[in-house]
Amino acid sequence: MYNRLRRRITLVLTALLVLAAAALVAETLRKADSEPVIRLLISAEGSVVELPLEEYLVGVVLAEMPASFNFEALKAQAVCARTYTLNRLFSPSGHNQPAEVCDDINHCQAYTTPAAYLESHPENEWAVQKVRQAVAVTRGEVITVDGELIEPVYHSTCGGHTEDSQAVWGYEHDYLQGVPCLWDGDSPHYRKTLNISIEEFRRLLGLDSKIPLPTARVESTANGTVEKIAWGDNKLTGYQVRRALNLPSAKFTLTFGEETVAVTTVGSGHGVGLCQYGANGLAEEGKDYRQILHHYYRGITLYRVSY
Ligand SMILES: [Zn+2]
Ligand SMILES: [Zn+2]
Repeated sequence: MYNRLRRRITLVLTALLVLAAAALVAETLRKADSEPVIRLLISAEGSVVELPLEEYLVGVVLAEMPASFNFEALKAQAVCARTYTLNRLFSPSGHNQPAEVCDDINHCQAYTTPAAYLESHPENEWAVQKVRQAVAVTRGEVITVDGELIEPVYHSTCGGHTEDSQAVWGYEHDYLQGVPCLWDGDSPHYRKTLNISIEEFRRLLGLDSKIPLPTARVESTANGTVEKIAWGDNKLTGYQVRRALNLPSAKFTLTFGEETVAVTTVGSGHGVGLCQYGANGLAEEGKDYRQILHHYYRGITLYRVSY
């Protein structure tokens, strides 16, 4: 098994070199066995910077997860971020500049330089060191299935159970099936209620004032994510409602009062893959980063690429 995976990883890396030769990622690998260099698009400036992969990952983990989290959770985050980034060498996700990744959290992954982080958190030198260490001790480690890198999606807080990718995005991966998550109850995003005036609610969702709101027909997944919601012929997806009302997640319930609608959401983010607060909770219970990754991504194999 190990040898087979090793062969396939070698194939993957060979394919990477072929792609590099095809100029798609020409500048990303300077030498066959050296650490990849990542081209990062700084969205606000429209400029592209080149960074060694592992240095880039320090900035991603600093921006994506509180450094106060358990060290094992930070390591799990580092492995996810590395896997995501290496995947972008094979399939760059459509930037208008020659870059594999950007720093837009809604498109790729968040990123901050350690220097910028320290400017806003001058007391937190320990945080940079801790994150740097989490990246260093997992150097080269990636998540694979059948020898290929997975799409290691992650989110802040699932709210008790993660979601199937099929339910959220309409495509299935065996490793992105929903799993119980009993460790994110301390998350500040676990449950929130937003009160919106009836008038504003109608306006934001484009609902006519004649439609009686309590007649809403809601279809949700077994894990609570709203898939569809309809008032008569007015049909919306849970995702559209989430966007229109700027909700932290599409796991929501509506309670209609006389003048306001109470929108209660559970969790934050799409709910698929690794739950960051859950990962921290698992780590606090003594699980290591490998056990955490195996919990949220079923059937995976961790593999260390050497460079
Ligand atoms: Zn991007
Ligand atoms: Zn969770």
